[in-house]
Amino acid sequence: MTPPSPKELFHQYVMPTYAPGLVLVRGQGVSVWDDAGKEYLDFMAGIAVCNVGHCHPAVVAAVRRQVGILMHCSNLFHNELQPRLARKISEISLGGKVFFCNSGAEANECLFKLARKWGSMDGRFEIITMKNSFHGRTLATMTATGQTKYQKGFEPLVPGFAYAEFNDLESVRTALTPATVAILCEAVQGEGGIVPATPEFMTGLRALCDERKILLFFDEVQAGIGRTGNWFGYQNYGIRPDGISMAKALGGGFPIGAAAVAPELSDVFQPGNHASTFGGTPLACAAALATLEAIEKEGLLANAVRMGNRLMDGLRKLAQKHAGITTVRGIGLMVGAVLDIPAKPVEAKLRENGLLCIATGDHVLRFVPPLVVSAAQIDQALAILDRAL
Ligand SMILES: *Cc1c(COP(=O)(O)O)cnc(C)c1O
Repeated sequence: MTPPSPKELFHQYVMPTYAPGLVLVRGQGVSVWDDAGKEYLDFMAGIAVCNVGHCHPAVVAAVRRQVGILMHCSNLFHNELQPRLARKISEISLGGKVFFCNSGAEANECLFKLARKWGSMDGRFEIITMKNSFHGRTLATMTATGQTKYQKGFEPLVPGFAYAEFNDLESVRTALTPATVAILCEAVQGEGGIVPATPEFMTGLRALCDERKILLFFDEVQAGIGRTGNWFGYQNYGIRPDGISMAKALGGGFPIGAAAVAPELSDVFQPGNHASTFGGTPLACAAALATLEAIEKEGLLANAVRMGNRLMDGLRKLAQKHAGITTVRGIGLMVGAVLDIPAKPVEAKLRENGLLCIATGDHVLRFVPPLVVSAAQIDQALAILDRAL
């Protein structure tokens, strides 16, 4: 008797929160292979996780080394790598302190709790988020996510959240109440269809938050770690937020999340206020340190800009040739092609032809390839899309 296939086992034993397609068995750089040996160009990178490519040799070596030395030690003890990673994150972001966790949702939860703790002095607790945003799937982050499709059936939602229109400062003003303590926003909405914030909105948010003594947070879970050609999405706009969340690409494929804040907020949490058993383990920190170092050593921020422009230029040329594409938008290698046809069937067609990307919303094809992608691979992806359209 043949043993059950991964698909059969999945359907029998894994809660059906996902509807996976391919069985992937191996990855290297920008390529992944399925169980039939077919190679795909991976322009979704594990949903903006594998920014340094699959199985980056330096990340693999760092994890291999650390896994045999000390995999886990609780946060009741120091470990050698966690503070080094915190220093690195602080240096490339806000100059203050860092809290470590395991996922994007958990990093956002940290920002929510920090804002509430900070606001508890004067009774403020309300957090404004944007419509069409995405912040995670825990109860609070699902509430923060400004899309009712993610919330349906899970009511009552967590109290203390209000919503404003993205890129509409007036709408944010309208949502303000005396209880408002923070605003959380993406620099480029990812799940919402690759929608970059406008410069006026970003500088307006900063001015508004300064005027009203409100904290400004950015969810950098998808746009962060080099994806937009800067370390973090907000850095494309010349403003400084008070706190950011990150996860996805931070560990080069290894799970790790973090929240980083400005110096003024560094000591809002005191011992006992917040915790995460697996936050900042030596193993996760080894992966993240190797990932950030690889991005620097290989000039991947600059490559993200170059390759992002090549991809967007190519998509715009395809838009002139094919009726299907109406708009191309993005920053760096966070790129969306808006279609006038449903995106799902196009995604499937591309997959058949060896290109992985993700449909978001109903009509947007999202391209978030590893930042190590080459010009030849960009051109190959464009050729596959040309044929599919
Ligand atoms: C993916 C994502 C999250 C959630 O991260 P998880 O690790 O899945 O909890 C939060 N915010 C943004 C912008 C994301 O893209």
